[in-house]
Amino acid sequence: MNKLFEEAVGAVKRLEPQKEVNIMEVCGTHTMAISRNGLRQKFSHKINLVSGPGCPVCVTSTYDIDWMIEIVKNYDLKVFTFGDMVRVPGSTSSLAEQKSLGKDITVCYSPADALSYAAQNPSRDVLFLAIGFETTTPLTSVVVSEAYRRRLKNFFVFSTHKLVPPALKLLLEDPLVKMDGLLCPGHVSAIIGSRPYVPIAEKYKIPCVISGFEPEDIMVSIAMILKQLREGKPSVSNQYSRVVKEEGNPVAIEKIYEVFEQKDSHWRGLGLLPQSGLELKEKYRMFDAKKSFEVGKIDITENSACECGNILKGLKKPPECRLFGKGCKPQQPLGPCMVSSEGSCAAYYRFERDVERISD
Ligand code: SF4
Repeated sequence: MNKLFEEAVGAVKRLEPQKEVNIMEVCGTHTMAISRNGLRQKFSHKINLVSGPGCPVCVTSTYDIDWMIEIVKNYDLKVFTFGDMVRVPGSTSSLAEQKSLGKDITVCYSPADALSYAAQNPSRDVLFLAIGFETTTPLTSVVVSEAYRRRLKNFFVFSTHKLVPPALKLLLEDPLVKMDGLLCPGHVSAIIGSRPYVPIAEKYKIPCVISGFEPEDIMVSIAMILKQLREGKPSVSNQYSRVVKEEGNPVAIEKIYEVFEQKDSHWRGLGLLPQSGLELKEKYRMFDAKKSFEVGKIDITENSACECGNILKGLKKPPECRLFGKGCKPQQPLGPCMVSSEGSCAAYYRFERDVERISD
């Protein structure tokens, strides 16, 4: 590790709180970076880093996964989706199982792949399963506008796009959730900027520090949170100012709201959160898979032993799930937090299974 990292570790040690504090890393990329770089092992148990609802695959609800699967089962479609989604278990099936049963499901890296397939194959209906936060939504917006411009009739989007700030507010309203600081997501903040965190820091009196993803970024950000706590002055700070601006990326924000509008959305673990999701506007209704493909009633069955819901609220850590490393492993995941490359269970399993923390 470099000199900046070592200095930040020193700062964290100097600012160590008297009593235990809970700091939530909101973003799944932070979760993975913390585990991969052994950052938790650099300070004492008094600084408790917990995961939050920032892994898009993990927060996609069983309800939405079952809905996608019902569409895939009942209609003859060419389906494009991001890789991790394929293995997430729904109530009775998964996209991977549907693929093994002969459904035409392709893993893609961009919604543009789905759009270009639809344009080249006008007789084939194409469905793109759109997941992700403010970071990925602008790309979906661009392909939907392009589909509109080209007047495509065979392109559909199932949107589970979600917004981070409404989820954070509702999470902090939950009396069970006791957070002392938020390590705010760098990628999402590059789009939305630092302003949306101001009302959160003010209302809930909680430090919000936007962080980059290098080990030294995260360690400096933790020190910034501890400093705010020590001084009793919670506010919004931007450690990732080399990328994140106060106003964010206005062009990307405009693109999102040109195509989408805010609606209630189902989040795993958090439930149906008002105005926390994005659905296609009326103008683009012809591309909305939820409105174009009817399915019957969706009966959800959750795996009651899976603790993903509590992990996404920062109430539990992966080793507290009795299936962790036993019934549930990355090769055989029982919940999305073990499936996703940004999932907390996968991060713990890969990097922290046998690691001891330094003593207090
Ligand atoms: Fe769910 Fe598996 Fe994580 Fe347990 S270890 S919470 S079953 S994903």
